Amino acid sequence: MWMAVQKSSLRDLYDKVVEGGRLDESDALRLFESKDINALGSMADFVRQRKVGQKATYIINRYINYSNYCILSCQFCAFSKKKRDSDGFQLSVEQIVSKAREALNLGITELHIVGGLHPNLPFSYYLDFLRALKQLDARLQLKCFTAIEILHLAWMAKKTVVETLTELRAAGLNSLTGGGAEIFQASVRSQIAKGKESAAEYLDVHRTWHKMGERSTCTMLFGHVESLADRVDHLRQLRGLQDETRGFTGFIPLPYHADNNNIPVKEGPTGFDILRTVAVSRLYLDNFDHITAYWVGMGLKLAQVALSYGADDLHGTIVEEHIFHMAGAKSPQGQTEMEMVKAIRETRRTPVQRNTFYEAIRTWDSPEPEAPEPTPGPNALLQGNLATA
Ligand code: SF4
Repeated sequence: MWMAVQKSSLRDLYDKVVEGGRLDESDALRLFESKDINALGSMADFVRQRKVGQKATYIINRYINYSNYCILSCQFCAFSKKKRDSDGFQLSVEQIVSKAREALNLGITELHIVGGLHPNLPFSYYLDFLRALKQLDARLQLKCFTAIEILHLAWMAKKTVVETLTELRAAGLNSLTGGGAEIFQASVRSQIAKGKESAAEYLDVHRTWHKMGERSTCTMLFGHVESLADRVDHLRQLRGLQDETRGFTGFIPLPYHADNNNIPVKEGPTGFDILRTVAVSRLYLDNFDHITAYWVGMGLKLAQVALSYGADDLHGTIVEEHIFHMAGAKSPQGQTEMEMVKAIRETRRTPVQRNTFYEAIRTWDSPEPEAPEPTPGPNALLQGNLATA
């Protein structure tokens, strides 16, 4: 690790990070523009180790999409349908509960529930399914709705965002999801998600939720028409809100998928681009504890590698995923717990099953330790001298 950075043009940024300094936006852009993926990964891995140690987490969860009907038509989206489309769907409360009941047999601790911006479902529908799921098992953590859905629900129900969130929380909502962030920069946002609420509106929903004492995750959809500077701007705004509220539990970079949509970009990001984005996220977002390698979007094999490029979390077992798969993701619909544990163990990290808030539920035995790497700086020389004396 040390050698990779010592010879790199990123050495000054490494020194800054080691001394606990904060990278600014020009530093982040330099990291993005660097071709030295080994040095970048080493720096991010160093920070990951300093922040969370040898643990790498996963969650046993299930996704449920209650409906794919949506009043918007974001250009990047392959998921949304109109009422006239034959492949649109809308689950009843009973169907949602039935999927949850089956998943409880798999040991899930979390349901992750999102949908399109439905044209006419009443607010009571959302309250009803939250209450029904808590009745099924009060221990289930309900991570539901993007900030964009919250704004839609509030608008449909003629309530303020605070009223909406308060009622949803009383019905059982435990956490917001991070979706809907896309890219914050306004002109890019209108190229990929015309009509969608702005960055300020997205951030304000999370700010409101955090100020109610609650937590959420956040995301960035990358690898389409945005520039590297747009990615830095996006991370800057997330870091700014985190400075203010400390309410984000983790950041999930989402690689763009190119099938079945209206963006004139026919390839998603490369493996190189995905790894550097994970690494820069870890280095620049110094006030985030957790960076997730989202296996649905990058495949489990690359997500496993990303654990050595700053990520400390593999996300969940999921069971049934629609949004990325309708956009061409080739990953399976779900992972078993043992596949995730195996992937983590191979990186010589300790697998930890976590809950929605990244708190440990089960810690697996640590892998056999390897010989420690030399400490950077004069101690390394000293250790070398002692070793040969
Ligand atoms: S990304 Fe969300 S808001 Fe946009 S069209 Fe798809 S489901 Fe609707």
